[in-house]
Amino acid sequence: MAAFHDLEQVIKASIRQNGPMDVGSYMSLCLSHPEYGYYMKQDPFGKSGDFVTAPEVSQLFGEMLGAWCADIWMQMGAPERFMFLECGPGRGTLMADMMRSTRMAKGFHAAAELHLLEISPALKAKQKETLADYKVEWHAGLDTVPDDAPMIVIGNEFFDALPFRSFQKQSDGQWAERVVALEGGGEQAGLCFGLRPLGVEMEGYIPFHLKGAQAGSIFEAAPVRQNVMRQIAERIKSQNGAALFLDYGHAQSGLGDSFQALKGHKYVDVLKFCGDADLTSHVDFEGLVQGLDRLVDVRGAVEQGAFLCALGIEVRMQMLAQKISEQEAFALQKGLQRLIASDQMGALFKVVYMGALDGHRKIEPCGF
Ligand code: SAH
Repeated sequence: MAAFHDLEQVIKASIRQNGPMDVGSYMSLCLSHPEYGYYMKQDPFGKSGDFVTAPEVSQLFGEMLGAWCADIWMQMGAPERFMFLECGPGRGTLMADMMRSTRMAKGFHAAAELHLLEISPALKAKQKETLADYKVEWHAGLDTVPDDAPMIVIGNEFFDALPFRSFQKQSDGQWAERVVALEGGGEQAGLCFGLRPLGVEMEGYIPFHLKGAQAGSIFEAAPVRQNVMRQIAERIKSQNGAALFLDYGHAQSGLGDSFQALKGHKYVDVLKFCGDADLTSHVDFEGLVQGLDRLVDVRGAVEQGAFLCALGIEVRMQMLAQKISEQEAFALQKGLQRLIASDQMGALFKVVYMGALDGHRKIEPCGF
């Protein structure tokens, strides 16, 4: 096999051999190629990294989610053991903040068995450091997470990192799939978007009410995300428990191209910097939970700002502000605004809940 020096070469060689690839395959390679994938190489977070997430913005975020989890656990009847699972834990900051804020919830720490779903070796190493005080198990997939106790599942900016597929309405009235192709045939050919006829297996993913959209419209569907969500719903149904996912996206399925690449806090071309930029798309929450209300109690998606305020984040901020310097309080207030203000993360980010329905105690989740 030829030796490749970078991911762009790998992708181009694959296109030359197998033809254009769907956007999901391209995204998977860019993020998780074993050697050159974005998440396989580096720690993408923090001020010097490519993007900043809510737990990195403010400790208040994890503290509120910790309180939310403790409340769920108590409503479940304070089971002696439960799987505390975080999907895509980044630097481990959210889990550390949740654990710190639940120290006062009697019995919670003794019952919580920490499980992290993570594919990035660099981030796993970072999580080991951040969570050095706790016993933690890592998983590459849901299958190895134990199924002999209830579970509470949390994920922040997890689903946007999983692959999606993109479709475009053509002027002949047909939908086509957007693919990544080669611009021309020469050695120097760059990557470009192309279209290919829609496979029958994908037709069902375009919602009926959007099928008549005007030519040029784009619709994004994410079977991979839906499958992961369904697996979690099935676990919650059979094991008892609840799940909470926060992400940027839209509550209802809609049209639009939300494929984006972030590098050094700037948006860049999604077809450049293969493996060196973070690739995501908005989460279609309606699509994500489609059909799952037959398995579990589904709530939301609601806006993150409203959710955090319902949990009392502003009161928590005021309590903390009394114990710190004016300067620190100012920084904390700034972080809080970033999380809840509608022109910042408060409205774009949404929160969705799934909880066990029948045969168990009914849970009434706070914030919905
Ligand atoms: N929740 C963190 C990080 C969000 S970034 C925060 O809010 O700061 C996305 C996270 O999901 C990273 O930890 C990344 O390594 C992980 N991830 C991406 N794809 C994954 C996959 N297929 N399986 C498990 N984890 C994945």
